[in-house]
Amino acid sequence: MVHRVAIVGAGPSGFYAADGLLRLQPGLRIDLIDRLPTPFGLVRAGVAPDHQGTKAVARQFDRLLDQPGVRFAGNVEVGRDLGWEDLRQAYDAVIVATGRVIDRKLGVPGEELPFVWGSWKFVAWLNGHPDFRRGPDLGAVRRVAVIGNGNVALDVARVLAKSAEEMAKSDIVAEADAAIASAPLSDIWVIGRRGPQHASFTGNELAEMGRLGRAVALVDPASLDVEVPKTDPTPERLRKMKNIEILRSFAANQPGSKPVALHFLFNAAPVAFRPGEVELTTGTLAADLVVTCIGYDGIEVPKGEGVFAVGWARRGPTGTIPTNRADSHAVAQQVIAWLKERDPKSGPDLLSRSVDAAGWQRIDKAEVAAGTAQGRPRVKFADWQRLLDIAQGG
Ligand code: NAP
Repeated sequence: MVHRVAIVGAGPSGFYAADGLLRLQPGLRIDLIDRLPTPFGLVRAGVAPDHQGTKAVARQFDRLLDQPGVRFAGNVEVGRDLGWEDLRQAYDAVIVATGRVIDRKLGVPGEELPFVWGSWKFVAWLNGHPDFRRGPDLGAVRRVAVIGNGNVALDVARVLAKSAEEMAKSDIVAEADAAIASAPLSDIWVIGRRGPQHASFTGNELAEMGRLGRAVALVDPASLDVEVPKTDPTPERLRKMKNIEILRSFAANQPGSKPVALHFLFNAAPVAFRPGEVELTTGTLAADLVVTCIGYDGIEVPKGEGVFAVGWARRGPTGTIPTNRADSHAVAQQVIAWLKERDPKSGPDLLSRSVDAAGWQRIDKAEVAAGTAQGRPRVKFADWQRLLDIAQGG
């Protein structure tokens, strides 16, 4: 008998946990459970559709699904189809890799208005997540306020700012692609509540904002007269100094030189939203769409003996995809140490009706084939039933 581990959440932290476990104990039986019929979590639904290089990590994860003993179990929702306690009873260890998928709230008046979107909902729509098929109506959207100074804010601003040609090699869903291409966009503001020396952008992502075909990045040079906090550790200081250098290059750009103006606005915190405008601590800004990119909350992580959390479910919503590798590998070591102390259980198979790896491979093949016809990496299928039908060979 071999130990069996259930990993709940087939996103990056879940796959890296599986990878870590197999490196330490080849032959272990691992079930990677996800509520969607498709694996890869944030890589599929959260990474911006034009960042295909980042999404390429999915190929490594696909290879893990080919390993003997590893099973994908999609379309299984813990809390609906089975309980955490069922998993704890049936498996020798349970790893919670459910990420963070709830948009944080600013807690200011007007946040519930329909023109205010959270980034999770917005990016999931771009990415064809089957639960988020309806996006904002962009038909009359000229001015967009993007709240937050992290890489998600850059993702949102960039995908809105890019031309249809620049998105042609992405896997953005057709509805979102068409809506953005036909929106009468003129201005996008990326708004930070603190100064540029505190922004959490990373250099490559910020620099990319200066190379957009139809949008010119702009910033008031007066807002860049700042110093990076001396108390920051060196890598942080270097990252922030690079950000400020890049922003200074944007300050030299010519307003009006491209059809869309992409403004970086600092030291401006949102106070209230009213239809068509955002009240900031620095004044009122006209905006037809607001996307808040201020981080995510998650479900409460279940606790108990033999239950381990990884990734954003454990650490909170920080760090890039590779950050999860070391993190999940470290937790995998703890799991193996736990298993060593125990004899394997003989639990029931709770997952016999799930979408398996072969089902996912059918979806993958069909999406890639549809994409090839359009010169795209894939065309995502965003309809639950269609995904299930294809997985079942329909
Ligand atoms: P983040 O980097 O933590 O940024 C969140 C931003 O929201 C911060 O600027 C924060 O400002 C702001 N914020 C929080 N509460 C606010 C409030 N009440 N009012 C106004 N602003 C508020 O998080 P993220 O952008 O969601 O990204 C999550 C993680 O994924 C990050 O580690 C990021 O680097 C990573 N990621 C990476 C990529 C990439 O590599 N291409 C792409 C996307 C995401 P304060 O600093 O003032 O709190």
